Amino acid sequence: MTKNTDLKNLTLPALEQFLQGQGKERFRALQVFKWIYQQDAHSFEEMTNISKALRKELDETAFISNLEPETIEEGSDGTRKYLFSLGDGNAVESVLIPIEGRNTLCISSQVGCAMACEFCLTGTFKLTRNLTTAEIVNQIMAVKRDLIRNPPAIQSGGGQLLESDDDDSDDGSPESPAAIRNIVLMGMGEPLHNLDSVIPAIQIMIDGNGLQLSNRRVTVSTCGLVPEMGRLGREIPNVNLAVSLNATTDELRNRIMPVNRSYPLKALLKACKEFPLPGRRKVTFEYVMLGGVNDSLDDAKRLLKLISDIPNKVNLIPFNEHEGCDFKAPSRAAIDAFHKYLIDRHVTVITRDSRGGDISAACGQLKGKLDKQKAV
Ligand code: SAH
Repeated sequence: MTKNTDLKNLTLPALEQFLQGQGKERFRALQVFKWIYQQDAHSFEEMTNISKALRKELDETAFISNLEPETIEEGSDGTRKYLFSLGDGNAVESVLIPIEGRNTLCISSQVGCAMACEFCLTGTFKLTRNLTTAEIVNQIMAVKRDLIRNPPAIQSGGGQLLESDDDDSDDGSPESPAAIRNIVLMGMGEPLHNLDSVIPAIQIMIDGNGLQLSNRRVTVSTCGLVPEMGRLGREIPNVNLAVSLNATTDELRNRIMPVNRSYPLKALLKACKEFPLPGRRKVTFEYVMLGGVNDSLDDAKRLLKLISDIPNKVNLIPFNEHEGCDFKAPSRAAIDAFHKYLIDRHVTVITRDSRGGDISAACGQLKGKLDKQKAV
């Protein structure tokens, strides 16, 4: 028999099924799952509370994959960018954003992206392939290891940049600098275009026996795949939703985000309204500000109108310029006026300072190329 099952592709119930299929007791799955996610076991040999015979048997049918970063770059603001080589010539990036002792990790869900948003660098690389569940959770596990080896210095500023600001359990105190507090699926790829891998990965993240993250602290960001928003809400009803809105008219959105031609604003906003958000939680609307394109007060006005009947908060992201893309960053005055218009009308707004800009780790700058492949 070949070792063909990567156990990191399996949620706990799927692992139970896998082991039951081999005639093993159900509780074995929990033991193995804890070894993988709580002890970071890389091999069955390490699983000392499991009999040698079973370990040997597992070793013949399954394996535990792992990722180690190829490179880690640290920006002047403490942001860390990890490049992971996937072993098949492809690579993806994850970005750690440490603020005031709280760590947010931005992870990738695909190699490249099929959505072809005009302003996004990742989109220019087209979709190469989906990440597996294992590759998604392995980004988190690798960064956790790095944080233990090398905890970030406590940085100030930025406040609750990417956090759920209405988290009841939040007492405002910093956590261990080695802990990951928030996971955002805002790296390379469109997570809702890879739900078959993303859903089990989130289940592993929020499993109390797995990575033990609170579902309040996992955010899935989408460009607006409406049917998949429905599926996500049905299968993981408590996760945070972020929607990259970026335009306030179908005319402009059709132009800069081709997904809008299939799911126009009306359908997208209806899906946001119907998304099962518990309690006081809000949909995050991301809005990339493109200088002279969507950054006027009329845009701010239209934005407010579009989202006013959905519990909302707004993340303004000044466009990060990159080579080969003609859009320009908005002026400081345009950002401030847009921000103020919304704040004055009681919208929760955060303007994202461009963290990680000096290491190309900012929004829309991830390309996941290995150095040796750079010369394309
Ligand atoms: N595909 C998902 C997840 C990616 S999130 C989504 O679209 O939501 C990445 C965020 O960065 C999105 O909000 C996107 O609109 C934004 N973005 C892309 N390119 C950018 C750029 N060059 N400057 C600033 N933000 C950008």
